[in-house]
Amino acid sequence: MNPNKSKILRVAVPTPLRQSFDYLLPIGCGLDRLQPGVRVRVPFQHRQLIAILLEICDESAVPAHRLKQAIEIIDETPVITADILELCLWAADYYHHPIGDVLECALPVLLRQGKPVEASMESYWRLTAAGRAVDLSSLTRAKKQIDVLKALALHEEGMTKRQLKELNVSGAVLKAVCEKAWVEEIRKSSSLAGLLPSAHSNVIESPLIMNAEQQTALDAILQTQNNFQVLLLDGVTGSGKTEVYLQAIANVLEAQKQVLVLVPEIGLTPQTIQRFRQRFSAPVVALHSGLTDKERLNAWISAQTGEAKIIIGTRSAIFSPFKNLGLIIVDEEHDLSFKQQEGFRYHARDLAIMRARAHQIPIVLGSATPSLESLCRALQDRYQHLHLRQRAGVAVQPNYCVLDIRNSFIEEGLSQPLLTAMREHLQNGDQVMLFLNRRGFAPVLMCHACGWTAKCKRCDARMTFHHSPRRLHCHHCDSQRPVFSKCEDCNQKDLQIIGLGTERLEQAIQKYFPEYSIARIDRDSTQRKGSMEDLLDGIHSGEHKILIGTQMLAKGHHFPNVTLVGIIDADGGFFSSDFRAVERMGQLVLQVAGRAGRVTKPGTVLIQTHHPDHPLLQQLLRESYGYFAATLLKEREGAALPPYAFLALFRAEAHSQEQAMQFLQQIKNVAASLGESIPLWGPVPAPMARRSGRFRVQLLLQSAQRPLLQRCLKRLLPEIEKLPSKQQVRWSLDVDPLEMF
Ligand code: ADP
Ligand code: ZN
Ligand code: ZN
Repeated sequence: MNPNKSKILRVAVPTPLRQSFDYLLPIGCGLDRLQPGVRVRVPFQHRQLIAILLEICDESAVPAHRLKQAIEIIDETPVITADILELCLWAADYYHHPIGDVLECALPVLLRQGKPVEASMESYWRLTAAGRAVDLSSLTRAKKQIDVLKALALHEEGMTKRQLKELNVSGAVLKAVCEKAWVEEIRKSSSLAGLLPSAHSNVIESPLIMNAEQQTALDAILQTQNNFQVLLLDGVTGSGKTEVYLQAIANVLEAQKQVLVLVPEIGLTPQTIQRFRQRFSAPVVALHSGLTDKERLNAWISAQTGEAKIIIGTRSAIFSPFKNLGLIIVDEEHDLSFKQQEGFRYHARDLAIMRARAHQIPIVLGSATPSLESLCRALQDRYQHLHLRQRAGVAVQPNYCVLDIRNSFIEEGLSQPLLTAMREHLQNGDQVMLFLNRRGFAPVLMCHACGWTAKCKRCDARMTFHHSPRRLHCHHCDSQRPVFSKCEDCNQKDLQIIGLGTERLEQAIQKYFPEYSIARIDRDSTQRKGSMEDLLDGIHSGEHKILIGTQMLAKGHHFPNVTLVGIIDADGGFFSSDFRAVERMGQLVLQVAGRAGRVTKPGTVLIQTHHPDHPLLQQLLRESYGYFAATLLKEREGAALPPYAFLALFRAEAHSQEQAMQFLQQIKNVAASLGESIPLWGPVPAPMARRSGRFRVQLLLQSAQRPLLQRCLKRLLPEIEKLPSKQQVRWSLDVDPLEMF
């Protein structure tokens, strides 16, 4: 009898079930060279699914006659390499999320679909022997042809049409040199095709001379090479953190290793990539939402083969395979976008730390406004704390000025002192940036006769009035409806538009400063592909003088000619029920302010508020983020909140609030019966109790000890899976939740 026959394939299947599944080997399939991490096609509930092999076992708890045969083993070598498998298993365990779903998140779409691990074929043009022998001086009348031959002489491996086009080589010229048999087309597969930097950006910029603090930080990073160490690079905006990254990377590349750079979701990526490409001739690959599935797979392959040396990507890039990873950098580590807010709710920064530990390599967390979590660990000496307290080069920190707008005349959100300052800076030829974190025209449409306001029919929320296109838009469930000229309640025509959004601010500014061009950057104005780039180009070229934006404008951008930043409303953070609101407000104010005066011109930041004397605001502006954060940390410690405690949040949604409440109450009862001393808060309706037509309820678990919380969750989840009432609700568990809605 074939001894293989009794072997069992234990696989992860992409389903929401928190378990693995056992299959028999496919017919005729041997065990030799079969490794965990390969894809296996399996029959699953009348379908075929692509599963990942977790392990090969001798026995199964499933009776032999019920075991099904797997259909085929797709890969010879694992698509989920051992290190990523380990990371995913850890994450599935820590976030209590189904392993099948975790592994699915870790793979490019094409691989999830069962496609081969194969880079796409691409056409390249390269010189022939005859082409190399051409005497260029004899070609004086064909300058364009000379250019092609010269360029191709520099790129023996050949160039793609796109790269040639970037050098202004037209199809006609290419055809001409091909007809003379100087250039030939070859087809080859390259995982880097279409992802490589354009040919002319191979001009390599030299490193800057670092100041003392930068040098100290760099030395500290380099000292940890080949060891696991978390380093918090805590440097004010414009202090040259990126320069430190670049020089650290140069060292890692010299050691023939690869680097992973994680960046927040939006806006930031194009500029960052450019800076990296200007510095290194080594292939830089960017993983962002603009890639096609094919390009994504190519990038993935190039990281795995080691062809790509630097991978820059958003959250999910943490799952990229590497041949030889030497350093991880998480830029703007405080940024919320590193935490996935639905499905598999992982935090990419935290996974990055786990990954660095597994590889025994350093990880640098960089920010001007570190999260309290990271700061706390740095203060406890668990992370190495590196400071950059001064702006790099000749730039200086901006001047902050709080504008007390109590009782003052405000029109469309703009106080007189702000308007006066804007005029001054604009007349000097400088750029001005206004920050307002609310898109649309106005947050409230109200009837003056009866007090009716336009509410979303599916959420406990008002609909935002948008001017162009004219509509009411719920920013929570995305539903939209037309604006009627009459009150939907009393039929009177006296509708008022109350409050301020970026659209309305733009309109007001246009009225005050008709002679200047405005760039508005928010989710609405950047929806069309490429529109963000166009707006940024217009800002950098100086075409737009006034910049208006939501937090999309606050992140990581570098606008050398912005000398004035106006924060239209700094008060929101003080009134939120979320215990993290003040931390966020502080981070946002400093990040926005950090856009001002980043080169030779000093920057001014004007902050409009009704609470000019608020001690935390004062501390933030007069002292530093460090002091502000220290005060917040004391408060958190006193209240036993993160980072001094650990949270897990159960959320449930149902068609009635009662159903959702009952379900979480059952979880609470089970949790209480476990006999663990874990405080449980709730169930209570979520701050927004109804969203997209569903009632939302939450239950919070809190503990000062992470292992205790983890143990409790581990015991709890199998019990929850048994609750019959789970059929009536949609529920989720969020470990280390960052948002409490
Ligand atoms: P951060 O990432 O901390 O916001 P950047 O790295 O973007 O800061 O640096 C801000 C500006 O300062 C950039 O224009 C950069 O080129 C410049 N810069 C950085 N380090 C130095 C240095 N040592 N000398 C001169 N200019 C520098
Ligand atoms: Zn009315
Ligand atoms: Zn809604």
